[in-house]
Amino acid sequence: MKITSIETFILHAPVTRQGIADSTHRLTHWGVPGVIIRTDGDVSGFGYTGTHAHLPTDRLITQCIAESYAPLLIGSDPLEVRSLWTKLLHHPPLQWVGRAGITHLALSAVDIALWDLKAKAAQIPLWKLLGGCGDEKVRAYNTDGGWLNWTIDQLIADARGLLASGYRGIKIKVGTGCVPEDVRRVQAVRQAIGSDIDLMVDANGRWLLPDALDFCRRIAAMDLKWLEEPLWYDDVDGHRRLAARGGVPIALGEQLYTIDHFKQFMAAGAVDYVQPDAVRLAGITEWLMVADLALSYRLPVVSHIGDMAQVHLHLAIAHPSCHLLEYIPWLSDCFEEPAAVSEGCFVTPQQPGASSTIRSQAFEKYRVG
Ligand code: MG
Repeated sequence: MKITSIETFILHAPVTRQGIADSTHRLTHWGVPGVIIRTDGDVSGFGYTGTHAHLPTDRLITQCIAESYAPLLIGSDPLEVRSLWTKLLHHPPLQWVGRAGITHLALSAVDIALWDLKAKAAQIPLWKLLGGCGDEKVRAYNTDGGWLNWTIDQLIADARGLLASGYRGIKIKVGTGCVPEDVRRVQAVRQAIGSDIDLMVDANGRWLLPDALDFCRRIAAMDLKWLEEPLWYDDVDGHRRLAARGGVPIALGEQLYTIDHFKQFMAAGAVDYVQPDAVRLAGITEWLMVADLALSYRLPVVSHIGDMAQVHLHLAIAHPSCHLLEYIPWLSDCFEEPAAVSEGCFVTPQQPGASSTIRSQAFEKYRVG
């Protein structure tokens, strides 16, 4: 089989709650810059990364795919995924300008498309290609809630609705700029959902170390499963000190680009729940390396889902470090086989591929640029 053409696309799909906010971002749309890799066989691979739907930067990603990676791919055997990944990652002109950022996001889209193609060629779902078992149940926790632009009453009503639909875990945002207000919001939700439900909080990198320690001291009785991204994303030593002194498990990884970043946090004891994202790492290939590394440290992997769980569900089924995965339904009308949750667990995908194939109607509705 040979790669014959590379087509890029950009989708901007509306978020489901008509504008949402965390401590550092406000969003109305989710961006899906992606690629379709076509072959001389009868299968094509779909891959994409995830952005905040800013067209000028999304265009930089698709340009990198079309102008820098595509010439290296045309004529190659798409089933030789890891070899192609290494070739693209180490291509000297690209390595010189970016081992993270735009070039890495672009490589993630390409790598996901190649894995999708490989699973389709084998006529099996990606989780099976990676050696997973279809009986493996992945629990879902919901993160399309708990937004900072909601009142406490909205937080409580939404949390109760999620429990009624079967979820046993929810995450809410903190980082209002006032730690006592953050604590009031967390306390109100914990009281509303009771003590048996997993409750996680996410500061999206907003705090300085004293704010995070103050928060941890005040919520000590709230039994939080984890505190996510309390400090600036790259601050290994700050997270190490917080993990040692705060008394709340630390989750992070959604902003880390490479296995080397993850290794620094794990080696320092600065992370308890590892959150790699295949659309920020260089795709599935690098995600698997990070998950294996986490396993060697005996740390659970709870992926961040810049792909809205489509590909990550396959990875969670297949990897022994994953039992829990977040769910956000923003792109549920974009895919031929959208990720779905029933009674608090993900439904196992059955179609060949990585569940990354975009529906033609989604191109009609959401394609931009
Ligand atoms: Mg987060």
